[in-house]
Amino acid sequence: MRDRYGPDGPPIDWSRQPIGGSFQGIPSSPVTDRDRRHRQAYEAALSDASCASERDLGQHLARCAPENPCGLSFCPTCIRTVGTAYAQAAIKFTRARSPAKARSKPITRLSATPLIPALPVGALQLVNLRQVHEAVLRALRPLRFAISFAHLHLVVNEGGGQRWNPSWRIRIYGVVVGASVENVKQLLEPLCPNDNATTTPSLIVRASDDLDVAINNSIRPYFTRRPAYVDQASRRVARGRRLRAAELRELALFLGSVRFEHQYLLIQEGQNVEIALRRDRSATAQKS
Ligand SMILES: [Zn+2]
Repeated sequence: MRDRYGPDGPPIDWSRQPIGGSFQGIPSSPVTDRDRRHRQAYEAALSDASCASERDLGQHLARCAPENPCGLSFCPTCIRTVGTAYAQAAIKFTRARSPAKARSKPITRLSATPLIPALPVGALQLVNLRQVHEAVLRALRPLRFAISFAHLHLVVNEGGGQRWNPSWRIRIYGVVVGASVENVKQLLEPLCPNDNATTTPSLIVRASDDLDVAINNSIRPYFTRRPAYVDQASRRVARGRRLRAAELRELALFLGSVRFEHQYLLIQEGQNVEIALRRDRSATAQKS
């Protein structure tokens, strides 16, 4: 079978080219049992693959260890390691840039499905995450929140029965500092309309009283499928389920060629802030 490639070309061979050297300097997150279960599911799905680049990804993932992280952006441990470094840089930046009275500014957490077309399962390689990242930046900048931090995540939505076919959606998990829940809802609602192929509300906004917790919780290391069903009260609800083997292979091939930096964004008052991983075991955030 011909090798299939993700949007940025063949998967990066991390075993020959560790992730820029900088990644290796970041303290690894402890590996949890849940990480192991998720990793085993990828390894099993990838070892069965008929395409060589998928099998290579599985072998590289299997070698991921705290002293030698695989750097693959679907590896639950590596997402947590890099995501935590990005989150810490965002927290430090926010605290340093906000005047003392900013402590009293409202903090809101959000999860949102932006107005980006759903893609049928099997067509994920058509997504260009870099372009999605730029589009989300362009959409959020004019809103001029004091600070907004976001992690771009992927979920599979599917309807019960034959209502609609499973599709990939971009889901944003993020934090806004300096705007009330009502204000954030009002500004983001036009960008996140409800549609039939979304199993969770397109926009969920909640108040938070802890910046660290809010930002750290926007890092989602596990990818899920969300089948919708109708509960006894006739409400449409969605429960997170593990991805199927074919979906895990598709996601691994897609994310295997996507850089971590295209999954996070930080904006201060309409200006992009660049978060960079550094060799000295930290991440920094600077206005770009
Ligand atoms: Zn890893």
